[in-house]
Amino acid sequence: MSPEITRAALATKHGKESIFSPAFADIGIVVTVAEIDTDQFGTFAGEVERQGSPRETAERKARAGLEALGLSVGLASEGSFGPHPSTPFLLGDTEVVVYVDTELDYSVFEVASSISAVPPAKVIVDIADVDSLKFTNVFPEQRAIVVTEEPQTKSRTVLAKGIDNVDELRNTVAQALAAQPHTVIVEPDLRAHHCPDRRKVIGTAVDRLVQRLRVSCPECNAAGFGPVRTTPGLRCGLCGLPTSLPALDVMGCARCGLETEIARSGEADPTFCDRCNP
Ligand SMILES: [Zn+2]
Ligand SMILES: [Zn+2]
Repeated sequence: MSPEITRAALATKHGKESIFSPAFADIGIVVTVAEIDTDQFGTFAGEVERQGSPRETAERKARAGLEALGLSVGLASEGSFGPHPSTPFLLGDTEVVVYVDTELDYSVFEVASSISAVPPAKVIVDIADVDSLKFTNVFPEQRAIVVTEEPQTKSRTVLAKGIDNVDELRNTVAQALAAQPHTVIVEPDLRAHHCPDRRKVIGTAVDRLVQRLRVSCPECNAAGFGPVRTTPGLRCGLCGLPTSLPALDVMGCARCGLETEIARSGEADPTFCDRCNP
């Protein structure tokens, strides 16, 4: 990392600096919040649809942030909810974080996923349903939003965000129910400052990004040299045939494309061998 880089812009309006700042301070980078409207890149509540992948969105945010502050380094994160990568029947939260350096013209990404414990969205037909919602256990740290959906067109209107108590939730739902015939839905507020679960996963991704940035490329000296993929083929300890377990760790540089391979030591347990354990 070039020693003159000491400031990075963080594009957020949802308090992510409390996650990024301490981690980046460890590698000598001072994080400054760029007060840009990150909602323009898409919202969880659905008022603005996200264009492009989470990686593209994170990078766009980071670039908008660094431009706003006139810096050459930008940081951002982007979350998405969907089937968990290793347990697809459970809802997972995946958080992508990015470090963009416009002077050296490259970006470094990291990612973290976790099974989400956020209360799921629920359709409300009667005001009494509010009492059975799991939100009552997670208020006020995890907040809720109330959405109405037009039954024919499915178009959504967000009535209230950031609800942190049962009385407000009940009042908002009562108003929504009175305005028939819309479907009334209570959903988690997934903005980072109102979702402790997401903050944890963002924290893991940020720690990984900082860890990656600690290592510089042996070729071009850019920060962020680290594992990019593995190559299977670790040999079975019983018969010696290659298995699907990783035999090589491939390390790479996001700037110059240099890749190096590190062979894994040891042998594969025969449980993973197609011949010994078909
Ligand atoms: Zn074998
Ligand atoms: Zn390099």
